[in-house]
Amino acid sequence: LKGTERQFVDKLRRQAGRRGAVPRRASFALRQGIGDDCAVISSPGKKDLLVTTDFLLEGVHFRRQWQPADALGHQTLARGLSDIAAMGGTPRFAFLSLALPAGIDARWVDRFFSGFFRLAEASGVTLAGGDTVASKSGVLADIMVIGEVPRGTAVLRSGARPGDEIWVTGRLGGAATALEQLRRGKLIAGRTQALRTRSYHPPRLAIGRWLARRKLASAMMDVSDGLSIDLARLCQASGVGACIVADAIPRPRQTSLDLALHGGEDYELLFTVPPRRARNLPNRIEGVRLTRIGQIQRGRRLRLIRAGREELLPVLGFEHF
Ligand SMILES: [Mg+2]
Repeated sequence: LKGTERQFVDKLRRQAGRRGAVPRRASFALRQGIGDDCAVISSPGKKDLLVTTDFLLEGVHFRRQWQPADALGHQTLARGLSDIAAMGGTPRFAFLSLALPAGIDARWVDRFFSGFFRLAEASGVTLAGGDTVASKSGVLADIMVIGEVPRGTAVLRSGARPGDEIWVTGRLGGAATALEQLRRGKLIAGRTQALRTRSYHPPRLAIGRWLARRKLASAMMDVSDGLSIDLARLCQASGVGACIVADAIPRPRQTSLDLALHGGEDYELLFTVPPRRARNLPNRIEGVRLTRIGQIQRGRRLRLIRAGREELLPVLGFEHF
């Protein structure tokens, strides 16, 4: 399915490229189109615009009985903000289109928005528009976020070079672990709540900006579908391979290596740093740990070092809810 998705996006990108010619005197021009966390649009001012959209669908990304409404409101916005963070930008405006089943409890909707607005306020984002419609099949939330970044400083996925170090923020696999527990019916209130809270941390906006302003990251994206597939996307965009070390991947104690490698919804940052700049990296930024997990290599292969042995890194997609 992931291969098919890639072919589909590649085809769209070719079609968009042919039709995307901008008149020479237009004030805005597309600097980066399909294929990164955000589109980057240059403006006449000192800032570039960042634009991202993201769908959250009931039955595909979440189940209403498994996640509290406020957590879903948070997650809807967080998905968009995480893409802005991945460019090193600052989010400004959000547009939310919401399809709701006719009989939905008004309190559910209130709680959804309380989670949404709590994160919006904390992130300095204004809800500037959107749409609501009645849905015949569950809740659908489509978020669009517009952000800004100093001109020419957006960090793309395509800048990684052989020899660059590979780093991640926070820990990986926590959200997938919580999902596993829910799926198996192991809903142990205290522990699962702790895991859920962890997976709904605020997006890594300050870290993304910190890295971009100091020009430390050569490439960056957010880990939303799982480390293996997202690393594969970054490497593909950069035309490079990578080697990561299993023991180095930061994960919560109850999380397996498999979930840390392939689980989704973590919304951490994955970035590469040229070795001579890596000594300027602190262990933590704003209390969040930064961890080196491997190195960019020549070629196209993705490798994993596990128990001292090198193997090919399996690239598995995010298993939706
Ligand atoms: Mg992304």
